[in-house]
Parts: sequence; structure tokens; C-alpha cells
Amino acid sequence: MLVNSNELLKDALKGGYAIGAYNINNLEWAKYILEACNSDKSPVILAVSEKSISYFGGYHVVHSTIKSLINDLNIKVPVVLHLDHAHSFISCKNAIDAGFTSVMIDASNKSLDENIKETNEVISYAKKKNVSVEAEVGALDGSLYTNLNDVSSFVMQTEVDTVAPAIGNKHGVYKDGPNLDFELLGAICKSVKIPLVLHGASGLDENKIKTAIFCGVCKININTDLQIAWTSAVRKYLEYNKDVYDPRLIIGSGEAAIKKIVHEKNKIFLSNRAF
Ligand SMILES: [Zn+2]
Repeated sequence: MLVNSNELLKDALKGGYAIGAYNINNLEWAKYILEACNSDKSPVILAVSEKSISYFGGYHVVHSTIKSLINDLNIKVPVVLHLDHAHSFISCKNAIDAGFTSVMIDASNKSLDENIKETNEVISYAKKKNVSVEAEVGALDGSLYTNLNDVSSFVMQTEVDTVAPAIGNKHGVYKDGPNLDFELLGAICKSVKIPLVLHGASGLDENKIKTAIFCGVCKININTDLQIAWTSAVRKYLEYNKDVYDPRLIIGSGEAAIKKIVHEKNKIFLSNRAF
């Protein structure tokens, strides 16, 4: 069933565990992630970037694909369909109108006041449709750590459902580090009292992820780990199968690699959950 993320993340915060937000690029990735999470009995957040939405063909294509997969694959766990890093109100509106159940408005490159204004615009539209809203304060390229006063006043003035802080986490592959400021993360959680989101969690070891969850992170975004695992499996398959031309075999040769990552992450994310 497609649901918003509010209750799932509130339960996770209470229970001291996290839910995986896995980025999808096509139907196959969505299928693999849904099947893996269903067998782990884990709720799942399927995250789709604006670029991936264009790649799929549009917001309605994504929504109807996911809805149909849930139905045809008999997926029993709750599924959140989430727009990742939207940079405009109109992008969020398009996703909400198409049936997405969660959106992230990322106005973090603007002033705090502008970020608050844009986030509130999205919230007022999203709430009417029972859609969750995530926002970002700070910069997720490692250049600007979240300011504690800024994020506290942001959450107070927006009543956003979840917030993504910058604590040294970055998208993509960590070349040096990662050096995460867990003290800051813990202070943010104590101050804002809403579920926190950790972006750029690919490449973080088990200890770092568990510490982040302990500090109040309830949604953990995984993208790069899946991309690297899938690509290296497919590359290997093609090296050993030079004559293959069936696209189902080629794309499908990355299935096990994606499922392995999702199972491993879910095990860490849910380690404190009482079944
Ligand atoms: Zn991100």
C-alpha cells in the first residue's frame, strides 16, 4: 500500500531504528527493492529524483509503475513514493498531483527566510493531500554544516515533517572522510524533536549508521551504493558473456547485487526494531 511517511518515521524515532530510502532509476530497480524489502518485512521509501522522473517519462509514469508493482507483486509492506531534492514548488505540486505520498523541497541554497517561505508554500499544498514534506537546512556537499539555531527556527516556523541536516555528509563517493559531526546531529535532534534524514549515507560503515540512528536519524538515503553494485555486476556479466544481447539478461544481471545491498542495509537500519 502507498502511504505517507509520517507515522512510519514517528514509529522509527520512538523505536530507535531507521527506514531505508532507496533511489530508483527504472522499473527493474523498483521491482528489486520492493521484493527485497517485502522479504525483510521492512517498510520502504522509494526515492525518485527530478532527473529520474524525466528518465522514466514523467510523474504519472512513476506513480502508476509503482502502484502496479505493489499490486502485481503482492507487496505487503508499506511503501512511500518520495520525490527527492525537488528544487521548486511546481515540481512538488506535479508529484503530489500524480499521487506521490512524500516530497522533499530543497531550497537549502537560498537564504534561511527564502527556504522557510518556499517550504511553507509546499507544506500548505501537501497537507491538503496528506503528503509528507522533507526540507534541508545546510549544504550536503560538505561546504556548510547546519547551524543549530537556523534549523531550530526553521522547524518552528514551518512545522515540516522531517529535516535533512548537513553534518559533513555528502552525496556520491567519499574521497576523504567521511567526518560526521555526531555531536551536532544529536543537538539538532534534541532541539527539533522531529525525525531526521541522513543524505549521502552510501559508503558509511555500520558503526556510523548506527550512531546516526542513535542520534535521531530515521530515514537513510541510499543511492550511490546501489549504482556501484549494479554497474559492477553488469560489467562483470558482460565481460564473461560477450555474445549476450537480451536486455532482460543484461539488466537482470544486476538484480542480486541490488538485493544484497538492500538486505544488508535493512538489517543495520532495523537492528533495534522490535518485531
Ligand atoms: Zn540527497
